[in-house]
Amino acid sequence: MELDEIDFKILSMLQRDARTSLKNLAKFAGVSIPTARFRLLRLKETAVIKRFSTAVDPAKLVGGLSAFIMVKVRLPDVAAVAKTLSEMHEVSEAYLTTGQFDLVLRVDVLDMKVFQDFIVGKLGRIPGVDVYSSCFIVEALKDQVGPTLRPGFGVRLKCENCGRLITEGLIRKQIDGAERLFCSEACLAAYASKNPANLSASGNSDQTLERSNSSLS
Ligand SMILES: [Zn+2]
Repeated sequence: MELDEIDFKILSMLQRDARTSLKNLAKFAGVSIPTARFRLLRLKETAVIKRFSTAVDPAKLVGGLSAFIMVKVRLPDVAAVAKTLSEMHEVSEAYLTTGQFDLVLRVDVLDMKVFQDFIVGKLGRIPGVDVYSSCFIVEALKDQVGPTLRPGFGVRLKCENCGRLITEGLIRKQIDGAERLFCSEACLAAYASKNPANLSASGNSDQTLERSNSSLS
């Protein structure tokens, strides 16, 4: 499914805060509340939105050790091994992969002892598991759920000013609580000169916007 500007705005806001109100969503996307409700429903029905879930930070829990484990499996057993591992409570994420290893797991355990028990007592005993390698997570630097939405990645975005399809260099500006999308600084400046009241009333402290505002005066 290809997404347009409205879907894009709704999704990017929900990725930041899934509990935002329908009113806020509508305002941000620049549409009416019924339209926002319809779009949200469609995104859920088409399963573009997989689910709304709660992200627990393992670093906030007492103890807690996270690791990625890469597993090589003897070929006929891949599906069975993947299923067995996915059902283990130590495994938070499991992926079928190409390359040197067949499976990549994210494992969350209480401590090193439990990790060893998992490796030796569970993983190592699954028939079909050939070799594995692990690395501990020291710090999560980015752990966004789902991809960053962007032009060309299943998303068709039109410039608010010139109406052309945005291919790269997407510029996002929040004006009066609504998000506006532009293909270039020139288009943002042109839009600003056509809608000076809109922009000056926004109170947006964004540098780019200030620059384009000041260029008007
Ligand atoms: Zn443009």
